[in-house]
Amino acid sequence: MISFYPGPSRVHNEIPKYVNDAFALGIMSINHRSDTFVKMSERTITLLKDRLAIPKNYTVFYTSSATECWEIIAQSLVSNKSYHLYNGAFGQKWYDYTRRLQAGAEPFAFGREEQLNVKTLPAGTEPGVICITQNETSNGTQVRNRTLRAIRKAYPDHIIAVDATSSMAGVPLDFKAADVWFASVQKCFGLPAGLGLMICSPAALQHSVRLGENKHYNSLNFLTEMMAKWQTSCTPNVLGIYLLMRVLEKMPPIAEVYAELESRYKDWTAFLSERKTMRHLVANTAVHSHTVIPVTAEADMLTAIKKKALKEGILLGEGYGEWKATTFRIANFPALKIGEIRTLKRLLKTFG
Ligand SMILES: *Cc1c(COP(=O)(O)O)cnc(C)c1O
Repeated sequence: MISFYPGPSRVHNEIPKYVNDAFALGIMSINHRSDTFVKMSERTITLLKDRLAIPKNYTVFYTSSATECWEIIAQSLVSNKSYHLYNGAFGQKWYDYTRRLQAGAEPFAFGREEQLNVKTLPAGTEPGVICITQNETSNGTQVRNRTLRAIRKAYPDHIIAVDATSSMAGVPLDFKAADVWFASVQKCFGLPAGLGLMICSPAALQHSVRLGENKHYNSLNFLTEMMAKWQTSCTPNVLGIYLLMRVLEKMPPIAEVYAELESRYKDWTAFLSERKTMRHLVANTAVHSHTVIPVTAEADMLTAIKKKALKEGILLGEGYGEWKATTFRIANFPALKIGEIRTLKRLLKTFG
């Protein structure tokens, strides 16, 4: 089965070999306070910073998921206000999770076809955490780096947190334009689920120290203390970290990865514009995600496409949230092979 699901998605071909190596080397049983772990952790983070062009003075943390990162931000970085700018189901979920922990969470929904406009944002009044979903996996839209830079400029004293779960390791992110970035590895990293990454600026960590929140096993201050020794506050997903290290060793610089993905994205848009029975869900190409492609069609057509795809060994991503019944989604993640994309296009073409 070829999975075009936008997460969990297809994993890199080398994963079975790496899992075997991990077993043979005893990685699956190492102690997370051992030298072996510390060296592996340091090497993984050093590689991550190199491949993704993360500033040297930012700190990387291992978490279990992107969802955990939503909670860490809510508990350790929000003192009063958080401003949630979103246009889809994941951004809304982040707001919902934060609201349960913090009364000052404020939603700011914008349109799917709309480019986030810094002039209309509500965050001006009181300092707080601005929460942005860079790549909205539910509807295939993204917020560009230049928009993030404009928000950074307009709100220099706010903490800016960015959910890049379905774009990190696929598209270049301007890490300097925000304070907190996070993702989980079952999307563009092409790895099995169960590991999240959170990347914090010095300003974010200073803010966390000022707030002094220390009530949880995953309080950011505690994580920072542990990460000074390349460690975690609980037994982490050691196998996941090992697999990440092996994948990063082989990964080209992000600009190279993106050049290939962008060209595949352009081919997908051209392909969809030629179809009669289906089209890209989003008309405005300026807000298109380059890693998640949502396709809309009549309900009957949609059912027929998904059914035929399954029969031919292709798993398409279901629609998500309010677009569940009218869309399917195609992952444009680095682990997918050109031949697999060709197979899917051949199949979709048979529907006109
Ligand atoms: C998949 C996804 C999440 C949730 O990731 P988990 O690893 O399941 O917590 C959050 N945000 C976005 C944008 C996603 O695509």
